[in-house]
Amino acid sequence: MEDVIIIGAGVAGLVAALECKRAGLSYRILEACDQPGGRARSRALSSGRVVDLGAHWLHGEDNPLQAELERYGIAWRRDEGQAIYVQEKGELRQAGDDWLDRAIDPDKAGAILKGKAPDCALTELAVDEAARRMLADFALLWNGVDPPVVPSAYEFLSDGNTPGGLEIEGGMGELIGHLADEAGMARLHLRTSVSRIAETDDGVRIQAMDGSQWFGRRVLFTGSLGVLKSNMVGFQPPLSGDFHEHLAGMVMGRVNKIVIELDPAFFAARDIPVDMAIELLDGDPPHFCHVHSGGQPVIQLYVAGRQAEKIEGMTPGEALAYAVGVLRQVGALRGFDAHVVSPATVTRWVANPYTRGAYSCCLPGVKRSGPRVEGAIVFCGDTFDDRFPASVAGAYRSGRAGARIVIEALGVKAAENAVA
Ligand SMILES: Cc1cc2nc3c(=O)[nH]c(=O)nc-3n(C[C@H](O)[C@H](O)[C@H](O)COP(=O)(O)OP(=O)(O)OC[C@H]3O[C@@H](n4cnc5c(N)ncnc54)[C@H](O)[C@@H]3O)c2cc1C
Repeated sequence: MEDVIIIGAGVAGLVAALECKRAGLSYRILEACDQPGGRARSRALSSGRVVDLGAHWLHGEDNPLQAELERYGIAWRRDEGQAIYVQEKGELRQAGDDWLDRAIDPDKAGAILKGKAPDCALTELAVDEAARRMLADFALLWNGVDPPVVPSAYEFLSDGNTPGGLEIEGGMGELIGHLADEAGMARLHLRTSVSRIAETDDGVRIQAMDGSQWFGRRVLFTGSLGVLKSNMVGFQPPLSGDFHEHLAGMVMGRVNKIVIELDPAFFAARDIPVDMAIELLDGDPPHFCHVHSGGQPVIQLYVAGRQAEKIEGMTPGEALAYAVGVLRQVGALRGFDAHVVSPATVTRWVANPYTRGAYSCCLPGVKRSGPRVEGAIVFCGDTFDDRFPASVAGAYRSGRAGARIVIEALGVKAAENAVA
């Protein structure tokens, strides 16, 4: 029997494994897919250029992953796009630093943040009707949720993930590779999809779809909110009503990307910043786009909400045509399709049974907590962090916090070398 069975080898699971390793606990990591990383996954295109299929930026001024990049000697660069551009009414303009703040009633926002007023829908913070529409578009592009679902104002106001941030030169996959190596590939069991977790007299029995069984004293479960809500994993005893109620207050937003690699010659004659983030509001639905025009350039078109689900079945050719249609609004990008150097990549995060969406989002009145304990199982991952919700940084913090709960429960004194 292992001390800990960790379910999922995304950022949370791998970081939890490292924490267990430092504390001297025995562990196994069970991962349903054929590679680690979860939603932090990269792919090398035919040219060799690596692109991120899921997470791309390490957001926030004090992202805890930056220390890991330094520790592993991973090269990164700061996204040079300090500003967000907005394409609206046929015009591309640079939005001021306070473009979102101006849409929000500061008194109401302050009162909600201080707990002096009840939480409300993000759109209810709007100062007028135009601001309300802007916040609705932002909610879709930020969280991947469509009306009638509107995210919590509190979550938006307290979110430590700021736009842009650090990008790993070799893609998120490089970081994942280091984490997985350090956690130990021999302890990582790929293609092992867990279907049932049952408590026994002395621990927990885990059953996988391939018929294998695993035994541990504790379990760290890091599957996404979408996985948790799908009931693809059975729990014995069943999860508490309180936990179900907590999960019901969150939804899994839907976001996919179409990634298009371009010949640098396309940008040579165009005055486009190295990194340019654009909110494309002249279309229904709105889209978000990130253009990296330096080095080997790529356009990442983000498709959110129900539209994200619709594009999942597209071939590379159809995805390129879709992107051309959406990006037609941006004059500076017109004609990019003649400079495409590898087939367009379309992600399928909603159809993926092991993610079932992109990231979690709190409904009004619901606040996130840290890891959640249900008997011998600790639930952690990006859903269970209140500082950097729904992000790699949140997964990191939550994975470490979850592991520490287990370490304490097993009466192990964390090793001296555990990072503070
Ligand atoms: C399109 C997109 C863009 C994003 N952009 C950013 C960004 O720029 N910056 C940022 O910080 N975050 C971003 N995110 C969010 C970020 O990727 C996630 O918050 C983070 O990677 C979640 O890590 P995790 O370990 O909590 O969960 P996951 O990455 O989902 O890992 C959970 C793992 O558990 C496995 N699993 C699930 N069910 C089972 C089972 N039954 N048995 C065994 N294994 C199972 C899964 O296969 C997966 O590997 C983005 C996400 C998407 C989809």
